[in-house]
Amino acid sequence: MQIVLMGAPGSGKGTQAQRLVEHFKIPQVSTGDLLRAAVERGTEYGLRAKAVMESGALVSDEIVLGIIRERLGEADAARGFILDGFPRNIAQAQALETLLSTLRRPIDVVVQFDVDYAEIVKRISGRRTCQTCGRVFNIYTAPAGTAPHCDRCSDKPSLVQRKDDEEATVRKRLEVYEKQTRPLLKFYQERGLLRTIDAQQGVDEVSAQLFKLLDSVPAAARLRSAR
Ligand SMILES: [Zn+2]
Repeated sequence: MQIVLMGAPGSGKGTQAQRLVEHFKIPQVSTGDLLRAAVERGTEYGLRAKAVMESGALVSDEIVLGIIRERLGEADAARGFILDGFPRNIAQAQALETLLSTLRRPIDVVVQFDVDYAEIVKRISGRRTCQTCGRVFNIYTAPAGTAPHCDRCSDKPSLVQRKDDEEATVRKRLEVYEKQTRPLLKFYQERGLLRTIDAQQGVDEVSAQLFKLLDSVPAAARLRSAR
């Protein structure tokens, strides 16, 4: 089963991807992690990516696709994979479609995590990171009346807001997402692959929706009966 997850930063798709990994026993293919791993392991495309990055340039789609191809050839991806954070634009989606068609492993479903942007800004700008241990808190979702409490740091957390979590940065990232990734929704809709879930709810409610949706995708049923 080949699943693509799409959602703005802060939509919670990373957490749900982890649950899918555990449930279906198929890997999450996240391009940032893949790139780092390929460079470390010195694969063919990893070495090419390393050379490009050392020259200060951006890694091309061709190299990213090459790394994805290498990853999909590994044993744990034989029954499927979850793509997270790729494709990000139409050119990448077209290249991915060509690659997966060559591999005879077309995408089964694209799940869009729909969440209100105002809610995302609130979620992310509420994050506070403990400078001592790196633990992340949220001033909006913490139980009411409780002060942030970091038991790893003898209860003396030194909480800061990371630059990435500042409201202006979040708004900028959402703008980029809107501009580059939104057109992808239409691309997948035209292919009959797009499904949407309401990611505004709690983590467990979102999981329930996601598993129910995947149940209706024929490939998921096949995957389960093969287990
Ligand atoms: Zn701490």
